[in-house]
Amino acid sequence: MKNVIVLFGKPGVGKGTRLDEFLEGRESQFDSVAASGLLKKEIADGTELGRQAQSYMDAGGLVPDELIITMVINRLEASTKPVVFLDGFPRTVPQAKAMLEAGIVPTMVVEFLLDDAIILERLRNRVVCSSCNTSYNLVGAKRPKADGICDKCGGVLARRKDDSEEVALNRFDVYFKQTYPCLNVFASSNIPVYTIDNSNSENAQKQFEELMSTL
Ligand code: AMP
Repeated sequence: MKNVIVLFGKPGVGKGTRLDEFLEGRESQFDSVAASGLLKKEIADGTELGRQAQSYMDAGGLVPDELIITMVINRLEASTKPVVFLDGFPRTVPQAKAMLEAGIVPTMVVEFLLDDAIILERLRNRVVCSSCNTSYNLVGAKRPKADGICDKCGGVLARRKDDSEEVALNRFDVYFKQTYPCLNVFASSNIPVYTIDNSNSENAQKQFEELMSTL
């Protein structure tokens, strides 16, 4: 059974950024599954699932469980790497339970913490590559080298529709009502949950590296 590591935290907390930095040069040993990446692929491929998911995503709501659970579990089961990071799943109690019922028991959960005000500020300055999904911050250390162009793949950078303040506040609300309770499911299955304060990127990255070295 492979190690599955759940990355947990509010939308915009920076878990994808921590993971991207960790994975640099290590792609052969680690796999990562981003639930929103799978959804975006369905949208790009013009599938019925993608069509149904789009309106929920634009409004900052969650895509219904029945659309997402099988898609993510199939992708996890197909992974051939010894360690798989799961970003953005589970996001509801039924998703957490479905994963455990499928025999996928995370080795650990890493919960990233950051104040709402800092997240909102980061979202205001976030641009994302429309091809490979890499995030950049227009005023922070992680600025793209050329304006509007992804350093990694040359794709076009754009703000996400759901990063507007109004939609982001809705995403926080959804997080507390529907996602946060997943922690109870992890606790009742004795899955360890480690927290990392993501307000200082360098320290947070160090802590994340240390945690992963215990695998
Ligand atoms: P993210 O990029 O992880 O913030 O996800 C963007 C959007 O994709 C979310 O606001 C949801 O609409 C949808 N989404 C991503 N993961 C899930 C999930 N596990 N369950 C339901 N919807 C999801």
